[in-house]
Amino acid sequence: MASNSSSQLAQFIDEVPNFPKPGILFRDISPLLRNHFNATIDALSALYTDEDWKNIDTLAGIESRGFIFAAALAYKHQKGFVKVRKPGKLPNVHASIEYGLEYGKDSLHMQKGDGSRILILDDLIATGGSLQATCKLCEEVGYNIAGLACVIDLTHLNNFNYNGHGVRSIIQYSD
Ligand code: AMP
Repeated sequence: MASNSSSQLAQFIDEVPNFPKPGILFRDISPLLRNHFNATIDALSALYTDEDWKNIDTLAGIESRGFIFAAALAYKHQKGFVKVRKPGKLPNVHASIEYGLEYGKDSLHMQKGDGSRILILDDLIATGGSLQATCKLCEEVGYNIAGLACVIDLTHLNNFNYNGHGVRSIIQYSD
C-alpha cells in the first residue's frame, strides 16, 4: 500500500508478481510514464526548493530507468546530465564499482567527473545497493553529492543514508 501523500500517482504503478524472478513484486512505472510523465517530473522537481536547485549543477541517471528522470530534470532546470552505466556500454570509463541488487549482481561505470554538485536519480530504491554504489562511484570519479531522489522508495527494504544524504521520493511503499 502506498502512503497517502503519493496515492494520486501511485495508482498508475502496476504490481507484477514474480517478475523478473519468483518472489519479486515488480513495481512497473510504465503506466505512470505513459499517462502522467509531466506530473511525475514536476513531482520529482518539487522534492527540492528553488534554493536547492541553485546548488545542483549536474543530474546523474542510473541505467536505465534513472536516465528518464535525470534527463528530464536536467532539461527542466537547465543542468548537465551524466550517465551511470552498466558494463560494456561506456567509453573512457574512469572508475567502476560492483554492487548487489534485490535480484542479482551487477557493476556500474562512470566517466571522469568535474567537481560539480550532483543530484542522483533512479526510478526505485529497494535494498539501496545500486544507489549506495552510485554514491561511492560519483565521489570516486570526482563529483560532490548534492542529493538523491527516486520515484518509488520501498521503505521496508532500506533505511538509506549515505554520509548524511537520505533519499527523497514521491511514492513510498512500506510493505
Ligand atoms: P536496489 O539496488 O536493491 O535498491 O534496486 C534498485 C534497482 O533495481 C532499481 O534500478 C530498480 O529499477 C530495480 N528494482 C529493484 N527492485 C524492484 C522492484 N520490486 N520493482 C521494480 N524495480 C525494481
